[in-house]
Amino acid sequence: MAAFEGKCSRCGKTHLLKSLEDSVLCDCWQICPVCGAEMTPYMPDTTPRTYALDGHRELQTLMFCPRHAPPFFSKQKPVEVKPDA
Ligand SMILES: [Zn+2]
Ligand SMILES: [Zn+2]
Repeated sequence: MAAFEGKCSRCGKTHLLKSLEDSVLCDCWQICPVCGAEMTPYMPDTTPRTYALDGHRELQTLMFCPRHAPPFFSKQKPVEVKPDA
């Protein structure tokens, strides 16, 4: 069975993929860029008032690292890795 490789555009880590249509989420977005520890999920204020004008609100799950003072908040989003063409 052939395996496909895809490289994360952010951290350069190589992932194995099952097919050309396959994709994975690299876990580097969960890693604190300051200390390298795994960060903690952080849900920002989700009151309905924050709905955008078109009624569509982007799902925002942020990560933060509590090891710093003040805690480090990351805006990094998951990186989708697809097979290299
Ligand atoms: Zn990555
Ligand atoms: Zn940290």
